[in-house]
Amino acid sequence: MTWETIRKPATETAAANLSDADRSTWGWDDARALLDGLPGGGLNIAYEAVDRHVANGHGDQQAMRWLGKDGTRRVLTYADLKEQTARFANVLVAAGLKPGDRVYSLMGREPELYVAALGTLKAGMVFTPLFSAFGPEPIQTRMEIGEANAIVTTDALYRRKLSKVRDAIPSLKAVLIAGDTAPEGCIALGPAMAAASPDFICAPTRPEDMALIHFTSGTTGKPKGAVHVHQAVVNHAATGRNALEMRPGRVYWCTADPGWVTGTSYGIIAPLVHRVTMIVDEAEFDLDRWYATLQNEGVQIWYTAPTAIRMMMRAGRDAAAGHDFSALEFMGSVGEPLNPEGVVWGQEVFGRPFHDNWWQTETGGIMIANTRAMDIKPGSMGLPLPGITAGIVEKTEDGLRELPVGEVGELALRPGWPSMMREYLHQPDRYAKAFADGWYLSGDLAMRDTDGYFWFVGRADDLIKTSGHLIGPFEVESALIEHDAVAEAGVIGIPDETAGEVVKAYVALNPGYEPSEELEKDIRGHARKKLGPAVAPREVVFRKTLPKTRSGKIMRRLLKARELGLPEGDISTLESDES
Ligand code: ATP
Ligand code: MG
Repeated sequence: MTWETIRKPATETAAANLSDADRSTWGWDDARALLDGLPGGGLNIAYEAVDRHVANGHGDQQAMRWLGKDGTRRVLTYADLKEQTARFANVLVAAGLKPGDRVYSLMGREPELYVAALGTLKAGMVFTPLFSAFGPEPIQTRMEIGEANAIVTTDALYRRKLSKVRDAIPSLKAVLIAGDTAPEGCIALGPAMAAASPDFICAPTRPEDMALIHFTSGTTGKPKGAVHVHQAVVNHAATGRNALEMRPGRVYWCTADPGWVTGTSYGIIAPLVHRVTMIVDEAEFDLDRWYATLQNEGVQIWYTAPTAIRMMMRAGRDAAAGHDFSALEFMGSVGEPLNPEGVVWGQEVFGRPFHDNWWQTETGGIMIANTRAMDIKPGSMGLPLPGITAGIVEKTEDGLRELPVGEVGELALRPGWPSMMREYLHQPDRYAKAFADGWYLSGDLAMRDTDGYFWFVGRADDLIKTSGHLIGPFEVESALIEHDAVAEAGVIGIPDETAGEVVKAYVALNPGYEPSEELEKDIRGHARKKLGPAVAPREVVFRKTLPKTRSGKIMRRLLKARELGLPEGDISTLESDES
């Protein structure tokens, strides 16, 4: 399977924030220089994202264009954000909360969520976003793990979910409800904000003070609570510039929900730090709405995910035709491996390729990326960003061994970048296990090529061992979706007496295709031609959808548990599925 390298024209490399020359010299001091620091000393994410822009005379600039589900459109300037986050911080203080207290959110992508996130940081408190679709149990577990002191939510979500678990969380001091009224025992945010002072001097937090707790997606098991500090903003500033091409005034749309780390690091912090205008869409994925948003809002930078890209591909090119995407300058993708076909599809439909980049909740920000100046090898995650040292390692009896070019091993990073997690809450052993011999171990398998590009192979847990071969599911899945009928694929290994394991694929079909024995044979034949008989799936089964986390990641462990009749494990982040 060969995909041609996409060579960037000189105009693109010249326009890029990070040039090849920069790449070798750019360091964390350059990233720090993108920030102001607190006037009296110290560092605070909310000051860098909001207040300093107003102090520097940019209060009138649009910070956020909010698109409501019902068609409402609201614009907030940086001055508006400064005032509202100040009022919110004052409300927290009035409710008896102290710096260091943990403030959770449980709500959809409404303006109040963004105000709450930044207002909490401004008050020197710790922000923890929860995905609004969680049920009462996952909410309770996460509030217990993080010892929630306050939560911001809506009346409906409170009544449906939170009221049931509230009494089980002894640390909880305040429940804030967006809107003008609130159930008994809760604070209505509308009147409280109106009565609060519009001024608040940003808390004098230090670089190492705790700022955020993010729960991982739960793809491989029970979600972990990763702790991040204010200094993470140094990496958000660096990567916003180097990986995502942010500049003041650019129109930027990150489609991730702040319930996941992408939606906070790159859906709130990095864009505001760079004084861009963020698009926030309250609605879920809807093809026509997305195409209209890209066109009508004049989106210049777009950061999205492979699942969404595959849904667009599934709908076909015709659905995109007739729209004007000429404002687009840069498109990034994260969260899952991006199939090479998706990269190329971007080029054909939007006139630009999608730029895949890799990172995790634990890393707090982008680590490996295809940047604007770089030639793209479709299917590769790109190069480590400046300041990041990545390697491919293998565990041996004498410790870790770095593997040479071309060999598959665990993707590891040299610790020390500013947005590295500082702990897994209440899991010191697990945290300690993530480090060895001066490396942070990601749990992902990858390979590096002669040009230094990194290629994702699979999660360590998902690797398939068949007749002496090691097979990463991503390679097989990418080959499968190249078949005209296949929209999505999830690949696992199932036990086999002779081969150890054999490859089994689950696929969801494109519109216009129906499951049949003939189609199954045809897809297997296609895979055999692309991959060879040892790697191609022995069996292909059809599913309406594949089980995914709410952040859009295929849950291969669930396919496997169901296949083998094993316990399903933690499925608190599972999106409802029909498989
Ligand atoms: P958990 O750790 O709870 O199992 P998770 O690892 O899915 O969940 P996240 O931190 O949200 O939680 O996701 C990070 C993981 O997503 C990475 O470790 C990797 O497996 C996958 N990922 C992210 N970006 C990419 C990418 N560009 N290519 C391939 N995989 C990616
Ligand atoms: Mg993980």
